[in-house]
Amino acid sequence: MRSQKDLGLYIHIPFCKAKCLYCDFNSFACRDDFVPAYFNALKKEICLYSDIIKGYGIKTVFIGGGTPSYVDAHNIYEIVSLLNQKFDMDRCFELTIEANPGTMNMEKLLLYKKAGINRLSIGLQAWQNHLLKSLGRIHTEKEFEENYRLAVKAGFDNINVDLIFAIPGQSFKDWTETVTKVAKLNPQHISCYSLIIEEGTVFGTRFSKGELIPVEDELDREMYWYAVEKLKTMGYKHYEISNFSKEGFECAHNLTYWKELEYIGIGASAHSYFNGKRFNNTYNIEEYVKIINSGRLPVENEINVETKDEISEFMMLGLRLVDGVSIEEFYERFGKNPLEVFRNQIETLSKRGLVTIEQNFIKLTKLGFDLANQAFMEFV
Ligand code: SF4
Repeated sequence: MRSQKDLGLYIHIPFCKAKCLYCDFNSFACRDDFVPAYFNALKKEICLYSDIIKGYGIKTVFIGGGTPSYVDAHNIYEIVSLLNQKFDMDRCFELTIEANPGTMNMEKLLLYKKAGINRLSIGLQAWQNHLLKSLGRIHTEKEFEENYRLAVKAGFDNINVDLIFAIPGQSFKDWTETVTKVAKLNPQHISCYSLIIEEGTVFGTRFSKGELIPVEDELDREMYWYAVEKLKTMGYKHYEISNFSKEGFECAHNLTYWKELEYIGIGASAHSYFNGKRFNNTYNIEEYVKIINSGRLPVENEINVETKDEISEFMMLGLRLVDGVSIEEFYERFGKNPLEVFRNQIETLSKRGLVTIEQNFIKLTKLGFDLANQAFMEFV
């Protein structure tokens, strides 16, 4: 019998060749010794979930990290094979793996394809080698281009390229060159994120010592709007604050998050939203393996999502989308009209020029995109 309920599935691979200086993800360099134990634990966690998610069908898989392409590709192949054995994958149409330049080769790419992975997300970040070096990236622009072409040659026809703007030391010209050169390669999807200097990273420490000067807000916004306009002229649809795609190539997995649909996260620190609850796995990779080996799920911070929280989250996440929140979809899901539920908030935000209502959608304006966090806060 066909399962009726859909799920997204995230799998976290926390290993990297080197730690980038801005990175606060749960990722580790120099832990190759731990890769076999970690993958064994991932397999056990998948088995533990096979009963829990009976009746659900996986729609999308995202293998992220970390740098999943850093580890031996046979590990990835075995994980995807196990997913096919243990879960209902019949309707799974998008399987993404994150890959970094300098860790990919033809053998790996072909094994991913053989496993059924049909989308590649490549982290480039910047076109200029001096910026890549300043970020602590392990690769050059040339390696990116070589790897990109290799991926196309291997048959990948759904590729995302991740970019970062507002990097300390990055000029507007650097950014325009990055966007233009990448778009000329014609990937199906491009993500552009503004660099956030996070505490606990090398950049965070340098910033607190006054050694790292963040990019001015004005330049940050100029860079952002440059990308929006330029990518539009190069055939990309701006569909989420930071994401652009060719028609039909929106990232279905990330849309699961933005549409507040259910997903399960597997691996250390992976987050889930399932059965009315949000929870995450323990961050510590040793602890993760230990708990899984004792036959339990390493779940932490489980919270029940009350309907009022679900409604707020639906608004906040939905406003990230360029189309905004569909009044009709809101009504179908919650049996209420969002214009009534959030009358005050929408009025306040409309007066400030951050939100507008167009053809049955509540959406951010251009100013709203610049001040998105302020708009989201209204719905907390
Ligand atoms: S490759 Fe990605 S996950 Fe790994 S350290 Fe760099 S930014 Fe972080």
